[in-house]
Amino acid sequence: MPQQVIQILKQPTTGADSRIQDPDWQSKANCLGVDPDLFFPERGASTKEAKGVCKGCVVREDCLEYALANGEKFGIWGGMSERERRRIRRARAIAARRPSGVASA
Ligand code: SF4
Repeated sequence: MPQQVIQILKQPTTGADSRIQDPDWQSKANCLGVDPDLFFPERGASTKEAKGVCKGCVVREDCLEYALANGEKFGIWGGMSERERRRIRRARAIAARRPSGVASA
């Protein structure tokens, strides 16, 4: 989404983005030129259209990792809503606390 991409480009890169594979991912975003409001729907509004744009995006994983690393609380990033990203953050936090060598169920 253009507004987010502009925001990202203004921010210094942090070490927290280590899972991002392509440092130039923003330039390949499927949402370039798409109305940014689509990715920031009102509470309770559909996210289907935004997720549809993300679905075919080649940098979806990098976008999602960026949002997770930077604690993006609003909007659709990497095809996921705030709630979906919160679940991933929680699952990763739990996995990080687990002693190494212990497999998850
Ligand atoms: S995954 Fe979605 S929000 Fe992220 S860059 Fe691609 S189209 Fe834009």
